Amino acid sequence: MLKQYLLTPGPTPIPPQIALKEALPVIHHRTSEFASIYKDVAEGLKYVFQTRNEVYVLACSGTGAMEMAIVNLLSPNDKILVASCGNFGERWAKIAQSYGVETIYVSVEWGKVLDPLEIEKTLKKNPDIKAVFTTFVETSTGVASDIKSIGKIVSQTNAVFVVDAISGLAGQEFRTDDWEVDVVISASQKDFMLPPGLAFIMFSQKTQKLIELSRLPKFYFDIKKYRDFYLINQTPFTPPVTLIVALQEALKLIRNKKIENIWNDCKRLARAARAGMQSLGLKLFAEVPCEVVTTASVPENIGEKIITTLKERYSVSIAGGQGKLKGKIIRLAHMGYIGKVDLLAGFACLEIVLSELGMDIEKGKSVAAVQKEFLG
Ligand code: PMP
Repeated sequence: MLKQYLLTPGPTPIPPQIALKEALPVIHHRTSEFASIYKDVAEGLKYVFQTRNEVYVLACSGTGAMEMAIVNLLSPNDKILVASCGNFGERWAKIAQSYGVETIYVSVEWGKVLDPLEIEKTLKKNPDIKAVFTTFVETSTGVASDIKSIGKIVSQTNAVFVVDAISGLAGQEFRTDDWEVDVVISASQKDFMLPPGLAFIMFSQKTQKLIELSRLPKFYFDIKKYRDFYLINQTPFTPPVTLIVALQEALKLIRNKKIENIWNDCKRLARAARAGMQSLGLKLFAEVPCEVVTTASVPENIGEKIITTLKERYSVSIAGGQGKLKGKIIRLAHMGYIGKVDLLAGFACLEIVLSELGMDIEKGKSVAAVQKEFLG
């Protein structure tokens, strides 16, 4: 059996301290024992989100939290702006449209970055827009959006600003309150170093009016239920207790390390990954690359084969392109528990596979480029 190297942008590897917590006997959730864990988790999440507002824990993947934002903020025929630069930006529009919400787009070609001024112009033209939805790290392209600038623009309007930070939160600098973000969403399987299964969501004071007016149907994702139970350190429905116990440990690790140090580590890993890709002659795909996943264009005839060969031969998992980028790019993550040694191993194997697939690769070049970044 080969040792597994999980270098995908979610799920990501789990530190042993966290995995051990998942092996503990399950406790009952309507107990003071659980309430005290939940209280601690709620404080830890505020720290990671960099907010003073409550952050709720949900039993679903990240998309569930995206749906929760939409059904709690909007009513049928409301108008929203979706600012999209990839697959996950488009998901906002798909969810909204399935609820009969009118969607206006600001979008750019996949791989490019959104221009905040375009968003400003569209908001000025459409003063009836209720909410602006966008993505922090667009995992499908590796682009990071300028949330701070967009936040400044949206804060000067009546619209609320909703950000999918499923990728990037707890990896790359993100300041919910300072950047005036009204709803932030994240999930467990990326920078939080946990298995998939939990999502997190925060609502600001500015959203309260929309929440009161909202007429879209909701039951499981009704924010008011979560708000009431939050007051007694509980969730309205049976929570995934084991994952929440593991989350407490993950948040302890993050708090002990300090979020700024995690941001700096990811920055350094990102620099190394970019240098590694470029040294192999692979062009970086993202116009403004994020710090948690590196994307690069690859020859289309071997795009898919790179991924499968790395997995089958070396037990190294990286991701390929999604949707229209299938076979055209590779995506190598450096978030959560993924560290320097994983990157060195990943690039060493990538070099071998690329040469096996016919590319002219000078062995050791990308490993040396990565090492150089780590030494510098
Ligand atoms: N948004 C972004 C930016 C993502 O990276 C992902 C997951 N890759 C999602 C949304 C969807 O999350 P989930 O698969 O947890 O529902």
